[in-house]
Amino acid sequence: MNDPRVEKKKLIRYFNRYLDIIPTVHQSSDVYKPGLIYYSLSGLSILYDNDGDYKNFVQEFKKNGSSTTIKSLFKIFDNKNDQNAIAGFIPTLTVLDTKPSNLNLSATFFSLLSLCILQEIDFLKDSDKYKIKNFVSKCQDLENTGGFVSYLDILGNPNNRLSGSQVDSIDLRFCYIAVSILYICGCKTILDYKKWIDTDKLLNFIFMDCYCKNTGGFGNGVEPHAGYTSCALGTLKLLGVKLPTTEMKNDTLSWLVHRQLTILANDSELKTDSEWYDSIDCGGFQGRENKFADTCYCFWCLNSLELLGDEMEKGSFMSLVDLKAVESYLLDVTQNKLLGGFAKNNANDPDLYHSFLGLAALALISGKFDSVLCVPKVCLK
Ligand SMILES: [Zn+2]
Repeated sequence: MNDPRVEKKKLIRYFNRYLDIIPTVHQSSDVYKPGLIYYSLSGLSILYDNDGDYKNFVQEFKKNGSSTTIKSLFKIFDNKNDQNAIAGFIPTLTVLDTKPSNLNLSATFFSLLSLCILQEIDFLKDSDKYKIKNFVSKCQDLENTGGFVSYLDILGNPNNRLSGSQVDSIDLRFCYIAVSILYICGCKTILDYKKWIDTDKLLNFIFMDCYCKNTGGFGNGVEPHAGYTSCALGTLKLLGVKLPTTEMKNDTLSWLVHRQLTILANDSELKTDSEWYDSIDCGGFQGRENKFADTCYCFWCLNSLELLGDEMEKGSFMSLVDLKAVESYLLDVTQNKLLGGFAKNNANDPDLYHSFLGLAALALISGKFDSVLCVPKVCLK
C-alpha cells in the first residue's frame, strides 16, 4: 500500500488498538470476537503487503500469543458416533455452558480466515476439518430453500438430531460463508462439495430465489444489493459454476457499473432533481439504487466486478468504472486523516468494518486482494 494518501501509521495504530483490546479489556463484553480479529488482521496484512513485512508481522503477532484467542473459540461436539460429530467456532467465550447450538457459521468463517492470515491453519487436524464440514452440512435448509442458516438448533427427537434454526434469515451471506468454509477445509471440485451439501438445491436458491430478473444483480429476488451480489458471485466462483446466461451476466455487470455515483455527479439535471444527490459522493458506490455512497459498497461492487471476470477474458471488469475516482472518494472523503481508519461516509466516525473494507477496496484496485476468499493475496502465498 504505497499511495502516499494512505495514512499508514495511523491505520496500523487503529487496527492494533482492536487487537490489543480484545484479549483483555473486552474479554468479558465482546460479543463477536472472530469478526473483530479478522477485520483487524486482514487490514494489517494489507498494510504489510510486502512479503518480508508480512512475515515479520505474523511472527510478532504469534509472539504475543494472541492467536490462542482464536483457537480457544474452537469447539468439538462428539456424539460418541464420529460420523455425527460436529465442530466449529463459537462467537465469544462469554457463554459458560457451550452447546452445539452456540457454533456459528460466520464465527467459523472469520476464525478460519484469521488462522490462514496467521499461517496457522495447521492447527486443525483432518479429523477436525471433517467435523467442521459436517457442521456446515447440517446448516443447509434442505427442506425448503436450499440456502443456509448460521446457527443450529437441537430438536427434541430421539436421535438428538441437529437441524438449522431460524435465528438469522436464510440468505446469500451464509451460502457464501458455508461454501468458503468447505473450500478452506479441502473441497475443491463440485464433487467434493456434493459430499457435504446439496449443490443443486443451493444453485436453485441462488438463481431462482435470489437473482433479480428485472435489473440484474442478486438480493431477495426483487431488489438487488451489492453485498449479496458479491456473496452470490463468490459462491459460484468457489463451486466452479458460471452464470447460466449471457443476459444474466450483462445485466448484473450493467447494474454494478451504474452503482458508481460519478455519472450522477456529472449530470447537471440530476444535481437539483435527485434527493439522493450529494456532490461529496462523487466516485463512491451505493449498495442499492437511490442510496448515498458508502465506503463498504465501494468494496462490494468492485469485488463483484472482479468476480464476474473470467480467466478467458483478459483484464478485470473493474476497468469499466472510474477507479481513480473511487480511490479519491475513499482516501480524501471517507478516510479519517486525524484518527486513522475509514468511516461509512464523510459525516460519520471511523469504524472497524468500514476501515477494513475501505482498505480492501484499495487493495483490490492494486491487485493485492483475493476477491474469492476475501483475504489479502500476500496471505495465500
Ligand atoms: Zn457501509
